[in-house]
Amino acid sequence: MIDFNSLAGITAGEIVLSEYSGEIKYLITDSRKSFFAGGGIFFAISGERHDGHVYIKSLYDKGVRQFVVEKDVEASHLPGSNLLKVSSSLMALQAVAKAHREQFNVEVVGITGSNGKTIVKEWLFQLIVPYKRAVKNPHSYNSQIGVPLSVWQLNEQHEVGIFEAGISVPGEMEKLEAIIQPTVGIFTNIGPAHDAGFNSRKQKIQEKARLFQHTEHVIYCKDHEEIDQYLAGKGFSWGHHVDSDVRIMDVVHNERETVVNIRFGSDHVFKIPFIDKASIENCLHCITYMLFKGYDSLSIQEGISKLHKVHMRLELKKAIHNSYVIDDVYNNDLAGLQIALDFLSHQKQHESKSVIISDILQSVADQQKLYTQVNELLKTANVTKIIGIGPALSRFKKLFDMEAYFYETTADFLKQHDFTSFRDEIILVKGARTFAFERIVRTLEEKIHGTQLEINLDALTNNLNFYRSRMKPETRLMVMVKAFAYGSGSLEVANLLQFHRVDYLGVAYADEGVILRKNGIYLPIMVMNPSEDSFEKLYQYQLEPEVYNFNIFRQLISFLGNRPMKVHLKLDTGMHRLGFEEGDIDQLIGLLQKHSNLEVKSIFSHLAGSDEATHNTFSREQAEKFERLSGRIMQNLHHRPLRHLVNSPGIVRFPEFHYDMVRLGIGLYGLEANKLEQHRLQPISRLKTIISQIKHIKEGETVGYSRKGLAKEDMQIATIAIGYADGFSRAFSNGVGEVWLHGKKAPVIGNVCMDMTMIDITGIDASEGDEVEVFGEHLTIMEAASKINTIPYEILTNVSQRVKRVYYVE
Ligand SMILES: *Cc1c(COP(=O)(O)O)cnc(C)c1O
Repeated sequence: MIDFNSLAGITAGEIVLSEYSGEIKYLITDSRKSFFAGGGIFFAISGERHDGHVYIKSLYDKGVRQFVVEKDVEASHLPGSNLLKVSSSLMALQAVAKAHREQFNVEVVGITGSNGKTIVKEWLFQLIVPYKRAVKNPHSYNSQIGVPLSVWQLNEQHEVGIFEAGISVPGEMEKLEAIIQPTVGIFTNIGPAHDAGFNSRKQKIQEKARLFQHTEHVIYCKDHEEIDQYLAGKGFSWGHHVDSDVRIMDVVHNERETVVNIRFGSDHVFKIPFIDKASIENCLHCITYMLFKGYDSLSIQEGISKLHKVHMRLELKKAIHNSYVIDDVYNNDLAGLQIALDFLSHQKQHESKSVIISDILQSVADQQKLYTQVNELLKTANVTKIIGIGPALSRFKKLFDMEAYFYETTADFLKQHDFTSFRDEIILVKGARTFAFERIVRTLEEKIHGTQLEINLDALTNNLNFYRSRMKPETRLMVMVKAFAYGSGSLEVANLLQFHRVDYLGVAYADEGVILRKNGIYLPIMVMNPSEDSFEKLYQYQLEPEVYNFNIFRQLISFLGNRPMKVHLKLDTGMHRLGFEEGDIDQLIGLLQKHSNLEVKSIFSHLAGSDEATHNTFSREQAEKFERLSGRIMQNLHHRPLRHLVNSPGIVRFPEFHYDMVRLGIGLYGLEANKLEQHRLQPISRLKTIISQIKHIKEGETVGYSRKGLAKEDMQIATIAIGYADGFSRAFSNGVGEVWLHGKKAPVIGNVCMDMTMIDITGIDASEGDEVEVFGEHLTIMEAASKINTIPYEILTNVSQRVKRVYYVE
């Protein structure tokens, strides 16, 4: 076992304090995640923007007594603890995982490649689990931090480890290889996409293949020639090539399954329960591994018949009685539960947090210990109510010390539980597949009628990080969540931003700020359009108004009397919208000096053309004026306010004008207004709807209001459940707009109606109920905007409130 004393040797660190004698059971790298304090050891990792050392005290207060640090830390603040100083906490974490791995002489499958890593890992795990005790990465924990945490789960009971590894720049795989030490490899494929971190495809393959540098056998598809060149010597391949170890003789594509004839020694037939290319490839990797390990084809077939599409994403949806439900009904093991609980505890919209969980179908020796751990995890995530479903949970119900209900089966729960008792809470529904918890989610969630806007919270995080990478670490970040967060949902977006510790939020109206405050958002909030009738609310909810003219200034003073308030001064440097002008400054300074209860938190202005090079000279003039005017005000204040000038496109184009803070808007939502860095952002939303009805019409017949749609020949049309009242502009009428259906574009025919639209689907094989993408991955918001001569901002903010939002993380 690795204990604290052996750690110094493993990590080449120096023991600063050694006053705790407990074991090392759990590795903690993120103070925001739920963890077990007893037996936990915290690695304080400092990156460019995050510094783990800041959280040491709060972790200490929560009971953590073992720390690995790379900066000097005052040991006297941590009585009774162990403290180890190393040169790099991340490298120490990796060294600990490596040492842990070396204790076990078991088979370890290492998986890498461009796509399919997580799916192959999950499927292989499902295929192997009936025969061997196996362990895998939770979700796609495949990074420099995720891999050590995954490998740490290995224990004496395991017979196989299945670990995926992902890298983004050269040099990373060597480190992961040292931790995983795979005995068998799987190289899934190499994508055409040119990752920013590599200078060629060849280098990309070379780097990824380092995972297998000490591995004797690597499973791969021989049809990928470039991979074949690298692995030919040690490969165990499948493919159409005659020299493939497992040779594909014939593939038959049926409606719901794919039948593959394979020659491996003798001939075998496998029925794969998928029809798409990627799933077939992923499945063949798994089949080849199983054949390689000597499993007979009957057992393999039995396993693959039970495979399901891997739903790694956690979905957050609106539920009954003002609640939310987090939908995670794919499986339930301890590591996965921990991740889902983190997501639950990040949701600050409601205080009450419930979980509905099934028995954990993990093979462990000591069930009592397992459920004691579950209870501990629930408590660290501040769960207030548990509903446990399954015989094991029912048996151990005494272990749970919170509001608790137990049922033997899902059907019992659905029949007996009082669903009106769910109210104003966040409910995590997490169960092993056999418990069919999707029935519970269906009962809890608000019914969605066809049209919905899906929002990818991981993409939001990616975009946030991109802009952060363009800022100096000390520069602050205000994010604009006005207009329902550009249509994406202000509560959910603000909640994510708070989790990622942005500095400020900006809204247009006081009411938008009040809603945030009522739902657990404690970040400072600037309100850009305060009005006299909103002052009481501003004061009560600690919202900070923008003051842009003398009128507002005087009204505010007369409302406040001597009470204090934080305000933001807006200067007009050329936009000519709101703001004090040059001639106002002296008078403004006089008033500020007289009314020192107004605390100037910031002074700011707005560029009129930050996204276009033609306006560069003007933008510079604006900045110069801002510098001058704000400088004069600051000279006359007793404290130093923050200054800020640029919006999203300005962040990218004018690093010299970041001042103390920047204001991020559209970029967070996936659109780079300059179009210079669009490839670094990810689209965050997808608007989709369904086909309500399909019709055949004859040449000469007309479609819709004013009979605008004319059939020039016999055609097939579909009515979809979205209209201008949902935000699908009427300007898309008569062929201007298109939607995406089964891989093809279908144009609008006739006029867009209030709640419905007709599309031409001639030549597309579609059925009623099929899904249609209005914008998203295939039809970009940018394209849609240009079709109707508007800007993407308008497309985003137009999606009406009646369209349900569904949030997810991968
Ligand atoms: C909306 C807004 C922003 C954000 O602008 P984007 O172009 O969306 O980045 C910044 N500052 C002010 C004053 C705004 O009103």
